Amino acid sequence: MSSAEAFYASVRAELDAIREAGLYKSERIIATPQGAVVRTADQREVINLCANNYLGLSSDPRVLEAAHEALRTHGYGMSSVRFICGTQDVHKELEARLARFLGTEDTILYGSAFDANGGLFETLLGAEDAVISDALNHASIIDGIRLSKARRYRYDHNDLDDLRTQLAQAAADGARHKLVFTDGVFSMDGTVARLDEIRAICDEYGALLGIDECHASGFMGARGRGTHEARGVFGKIDIITGTLGKALGGASGGFTSGRREVVELLRQRSRPYLFSNTVAPAIVGGSLKVLDILEASTELRDRLERNTAFFRAGLGKLGFDIKPGDHPIIPIMVYDAERAQALAQRLLELGVYVVGFFFPVVPRGQARIRVQMSASHDEATLQRALDAFAQAGRELELI
Ligand SMILES: *Cc1c(COP(=O)(O)O)cnc(C)c1O
Repeated sequence: MSSAEAFYASVRAELDAIREAGLYKSERIIATPQGAVVRTADQREVINLCANNYLGLSSDPRVLEAAHEALRTHGYGMSSVRFICGTQDVHKELEARLARFLGTEDTILYGSAFDANGGLFETLLGAEDAVISDALNHASIIDGIRLSKARRYRYDHNDLDDLRTQLAQAAADGARHKLVFTDGVFSMDGTVARLDEIRAICDEYGALLGIDECHASGFMGARGRGTHEARGVFGKIDIITGTLGKALGGASGGFTSGRREVVELLRQRSRPYLFSNTVAPAIVGGSLKVLDILEASTELRDRLERNTAFFRAGLGKLGFDIKPGDHPIIPIMVYDAERAQALAQRLLELGVYVVGFFFPVVPRGQARIRVQMSASHDEATLQRALDAFAQAGRELELI
């Protein structure tokens, strides 16, 4: 066998091993736009409980119209990175509007939140500095930190005593700048970071605080501004990263928001910004409309909150093992990867689209179904979903 053939054989062997371990992820084909109900490629209508479409804006006619309008007025794409010839008025407008919405001074757009996190730490921190991060932070934060030369400290998930310990260690090690970084909301559990306490601890140790708001921007807090609003520290976060690909419209694009000088330095040095294309004008136009909608009324986040309370209560009454909380992410614990897949499969047959999550997306032995609520669901639809959960749960002896 040539060495190239040996390589392809080893790739196939690895795929087989993934399948045998029950860890293979299949992608379902959706034949409609994103929504509360979608049709799969085999023509079945299913209730969608696994999109990050928290506010139902990904098919909102007002957002679509704004995107169409931007397409007409600003073109399909810029064929450029921002600093060469990829910046239009709408890009600057969106950055200013996001800063206002998030309570910061300025914002820089990226092609994705993954890029925002990937280009953050390396740009801002050097070998003399320390980054202290939650053990369960999102993969993009972990990768972003890996790219930087800063010393790395990790505190046990949501364990603020350990955060103190790690901050004290970073100080003892002589760190110049210290940056604590955490998901605002942890996507696999729906856990909401205790930012008020974390802010106080950071202040004690003279540390900066950064948060990733991908599962929070648009609906957490009374005005939907995010976890910082929900935890009473709006305006007190040093760095916020987030996505336009979830609650804020669902297309794609990400951002980093914070102090003016931080954003200015990112524009000069952040590699995913310097070397990757501009966010498409249609997405920028749609995102501006999203902010108009969210600043004018809290109706959507209020509806999301009601749906979440309804569904959490319903699952609890049925006897499912759900992680407590009030976030629209509702993890239904199954623990075993194959059983989680079986539950998802049975629910799909019953007309409910959910996905099993298992290693490496969550730790081994922690497999689950992650249900996500949306403002686009109505109570009757959610009740039908609960009925399907009741049937599948009994069949698989989970309840
Ligand atoms: C989804 C997500 C990202 C990535 O967002 P994209 O814009 O899709 O790249 C980053 N961080 C967290 C916490 C996320 O949930």
